[in-house]
Amino acid sequence: MKMKEMILSKLEAMETSPEKASREDWYAAVFSCTRDAVAKLPKNEGKRKLYYVSAEFLIGKLLSNNLINLGCFDEVRALLREYGQELEQIEECENEPSLGNGGLGRLAACFLDSIANLGLCGDGAGLNYHEGLFYQKLADLRQYEYPNPWMTPETWLEDTGTYFTVPFGGFDVRAHLYDIGVPGENGRRNTLHLFDLDTIDESIVHDGIAFDKSDVVRGLTLFLYPDDSDEAGRLLRVYQQYFLVSATAQLILRELEVRGGDVKHLHEYVAVQINDTHPTMIIPELIRLLLERGLTMDEAVEEVSLTCAYTNHTILAEALETWPFDYILRVAPGIAPIIEELHRRALERTTDARVAIVDANRRVHMAHIDIHFGYSVNGVAALHTEILKNSELRPFYELYPEKFNNKTNGITFRRWLVHCNPELTALIDETIGKSWRKDAAQLEKLLAHADDKALLQKLLDVKAEEKRRLARTFRERMSLDIDPGSVYDIQVKRLHEYKRQQMNALYAVYKYLEIKSGRIPARPITMIFGAKAAPAYTTAKDIIHLILCLARLVGEDPDTRDHLRIVMVENYNVTWAGQLIPACDISEQISLASKEASGTGNMKFMLNGAVTLGTRDGANVEIADLVGEENIYTFGKSSDEVIRLYAEHSYSPEALCAGDPELMRLVDFILDKRLLCMGDPVALVRLYKEIAFKDWFMALGDLKDYIAAKERALRDYEDREAWAKKMLVNIAKAGFFSSDRTIAEYDRDIWHL
Ligand SMILES: *Cc1c(COP(=O)(O)O)cnc(C)c1O
Repeated sequence: MKMKEMILSKLEAMETSPEKASREDWYAAVFSCTRDAVAKLPKNEGKRKLYYVSAEFLIGKLLSNNLINLGCFDEVRALLREYGQELEQIEECENEPSLGNGGLGRLAACFLDSIANLGLCGDGAGLNYHEGLFYQKLADLRQYEYPNPWMTPETWLEDTGTYFTVPFGGFDVRAHLYDIGVPGENGRRNTLHLFDLDTIDESIVHDGIAFDKSDVVRGLTLFLYPDDSDEAGRLLRVYQQYFLVSATAQLILRELEVRGGDVKHLHEYVAVQINDTHPTMIIPELIRLLLERGLTMDEAVEEVSLTCAYTNHTILAEALETWPFDYILRVAPGIAPIIEELHRRALERTTDARVAIVDANRRVHMAHIDIHFGYSVNGVAALHTEILKNSELRPFYELYPEKFNNKTNGITFRRWLVHCNPELTALIDETIGKSWRKDAAQLEKLLAHADDKALLQKLLDVKAEEKRRLARTFRERMSLDIDPGSVYDIQVKRLHEYKRQQMNALYAVYKYLEIKSGRIPARPITMIFGAKAAPAYTTAKDIIHLILCLARLVGEDPDTRDHLRIVMVENYNVTWAGQLIPACDISEQISLASKEASGTGNMKFMLNGAVTLGTRDGANVEIADLVGEENIYTFGKSSDEVIRLYAEHSYSPEALCAGDPELMRLVDFILDKRLLCMGDPVALVRLYKEIAFKDWFMALGDLKDYIAAKERALRDYEDREAWAKKMLVNIAKAGFFSSDRTIAEYDRDIWHL
């Protein structure tokens, strides 16, 4: 039966009709038919099977994406339109699963989509967090955190009825396996496996997101990244990690048995990709299980080392996880002796203390386990991998040069173009045909049309339409009027000092003061922010406070409000990203060079015809190389310069301000009476001190250059045709950033499926 008939008969079974059905009825019918259609698909199979293990999967709403991958998106959209409904509105009934935090989790989701669409044999494994990361509310000029319950009776989660026993120190728990189907365009599916505990109790959460973190049995899978500012919180994270990997390892071995594989040759049947260090304990856990099945220690270590591969996502020292060995003894005593054995074996290979697994303070360096006992170590952008090899992981690179490789991140175009920007998709199809959907490199065919004035005008028209749509969304959701004729300048991503939202805020100060002194911009500017700050990260929350204060200041001042607007969207997530990105003119990618491993927001924006304003950091470097200097605005210190400044300890924000009154004036504005009266003086003074005296991520060092680059972009924007050409080149060159390309490389170089 065709999807259309299935949906209509579903409505009938629900005792309604297409004429009478409410939006909720339509959602329920379309949802349930889509889920059934996905569940019916045969699985992608193969001898070697990949398990992509990740603490996060930021999958976003699934209805439209699943319809696209099932090949019935147009059919369903047409059916709905026949009865006066829009798929976009129907989809508002779906909650966004809150199973991730930022780029790393979104990457895992894009990868699953590409694995399915390339027809590879591989599944994801993660945890089913009931309350997600947290729901962000913005009020009183600050962020508040609340639980983010997202599961409803209409859920994509299939209960498999399968359990695995996870042995914690002193007690066992039962991991309950749920599956979410991931359909591919080839008529087959893959699976995201999510583990959970039946004993979870949401009622233990109180006062926002607080709960008794020592109550492992009721609290284990409540939240992603529970607050780790106390010991109970840190232990809970280790409990979560061991729970994930123990259940995953057992699933792997059970599936191996069902497939008739031989544990003695595990690596011929299984590849495990460890996404950042959170799932590292899968290495000792697999070894433990292989020992139980009769392998010797030598055999088990050898097999597991040929099975596991590690992806590094960061060079921020504070983000490279270490846990006290005592925590492992308490949480997962079964693998403690194995970690000691791995430590001993690593020391046999080298006496360099920098690469030890257990350090002099008895802390376990998780990444070191991955590198010694995995067969591949990859960075996520060319620059990032070079920095890993030459500085951050240099002693490891000297030990194992053959393990290191680069896999520049990518994004799935099915979500980040076809789904979120159907108008642009149609224009591309109309211009160069549809072959780019299977082979993203074909987008380059657009370059042949770079001087086609009619096409450039259509590109501007599509962008203008997306901007009006976003303005309507702001009106409906936030009762806020923004000017669709203004330049949309957007920075949306997790809040972190290295991503430098504070530098963008200081640009806002600059522009505010310019307008106050009569220098009116050629066209109004709308600065849009979206960012969650980790609940215990004070400086990040202070930056949100500054942005919200500035938003109020410029919005209430009759001198400025018609020329500059600052908007911060609440609870930035995948759904917001899908609405903001198609409407963007200027994409802010301004991390301190060397600090952003790759970034993927940068890719989504360029694919949708935004022009990047960015540093030479992460994948921005590759974007710049592809589009050429005339189609991107780069500024700021190079990564080499930054690395040198850190090594010399020679960066001084105080010295910079002392030598530059203009810079000083912008920083001092944080303590301007207008802000102090409006906001929280404690937070503003704290932030001022942070920036004026520490500025660990060198925002002041790049600020003047940043302002100049942005002013240049704003001037260039006024030549609409020249700007449209930049947009076109960015879209045309985005093909490299398809996650289909990334996944094909993982398979070719690492997984060999
Ligand atoms: C793509 C994406 C990110 C990552 O953005 P970066 O700019 O690469 O940090 C974070 N959150 C959401 C919701 C995304 O879609």
